[in-house]
Amino acid sequence: NEASIPLPIPPGDWLGMIGGGQLGRMYCHAAQSLGYKVAVLDPDAQSPAGAVADLHIRAAYDDPVGLRQLAERCKAITTEFENVPAQSLETLASVSLVRPGAHSVAIVQDRIREKAFIESTGVPVAPYAAIHAQQDIDAVPEDLFPGILKAARLGYDGKGQARVNTREEARQALQAFGGVACVLEALLPLASELSVVMARAADGQAVFYPSARNEHRDGILAVSIVDAQLADQAIAIQAANAALAIAEGLRYVGVMCVEFFVLQDGRLIANEIAPRPHNSGHYTMNASVCSQFEQQVRVTAGMPLGDTASLCSVVMLNILGDVWFDRASGLKREPDWTAVLAVPGAKLHLYGKSEARRGRKMGHVNVLGATLAEAESAASRVALALD
Ligand code: ADP
Ligand code: MG
Repeated sequence: NEASIPLPIPPGDWLGMIGGGQLGRMYCHAAQSLGYKVAVLDPDAQSPAGAVADLHIRAAYDDPVGLRQLAERCKAITTEFENVPAQSLETLASVSLVRPGAHSVAIVQDRIREKAFIESTGVPVAPYAAIHAQQDIDAVPEDLFPGILKAARLGYDGKGQARVNTREEARQALQAFGGVACVLEALLPLASELSVVMARAADGQAVFYPSARNEHRDGILAVSIVDAQLADQAIAIQAANAALAIAEGLRYVGVMCVEFFVLQDGRLIANEIAPRPHNSGHYTMNASVCSQFEQQVRVTAGMPLGDTASLCSVVMLNILGDVWFDRASGLKREPDWTAVLAVPGAKLHLYGKSEARRGRKMGHVNVLGATLAEAESAASRVALALD
């Protein structure tokens, strides 16, 4: 079917997005800026992407009528999250171009398949075992403890994970997860975390953004830092090569992110793959020639890949729902946006979510600087303004 759709798809035509979250919203903005129209499939009437889409098809991700409407309208369709039923992508692919394809998403949405696949490309992963039932926990080697039990499917932002110090704790955690398929992986001594956002076109051409250094709090990304001067350090090159091996192994078409751990002994370990733009790539919206969302539009439409060069150094700060709660009293309040916008170099992005909840991603700020030191000092002013 790839062949039957004339490429590139020109501005003015429709592109499809499965998923109505913030990643879908930022995709809509980028597509509309290039003159495309976007149809979003999402069941939620209040979804951040549905609110800005040219057409919001309010239906479940596996609803045959919704899927048909999307495919009839859009020559090319992409996704903003990995939990789209792979079957839905198959169905859409009989009518439209679907990027990334069902095959890639099916692997990445299941941690067991994902880990085995990454290993098969020669890229190292954390020592792990697939857990399908309690007996599997009895059999895992002792050196997986202390470890992390992760549900194989549907986890995000540290949800569906439990730190387990002992085999007994792993048994309890598995029971608490309702016995779903999991991976048990060793808790590794991390020196740092980094990620690579890249795009791969149908002809195999690939581009990479400078890797971001990521800091997590409570399993949720808090800060990503990109030093424009450090784009070619050895570990970043190693990470980009690993990401390329993974993308080629998947015959991936689209924007993709690989999260990595850097261990205290300097080794690079792949953690997980996102078959879409990634929170750690939000910095590209203001600090790169072509943002990761414009990149996703280009690759979906079969247009030339965009320039991933950095324009400046940048610190990206996530805004979680927590900042809507006064630290002292715990009472709800509106964050001080005036103070944020008063910081030179600060670019505020809010996702239009109606309800602020603790741990919920509500927006982010890209803080730009000519040097990393400049971006970092402005970022600390933004952090103070949000505190
Ligand atoms: P999610 O899908 O929620 O992003 P991850 O597997 O990426 O799940 O885990 C979230 C975070 O938890 C990671 O970014 C890292 O900080 C920490 N983490 C996950 N696995 C390990 C591990 N094996 N060793 C040490 N830290 C880990
Ligand atoms: Mg992660």
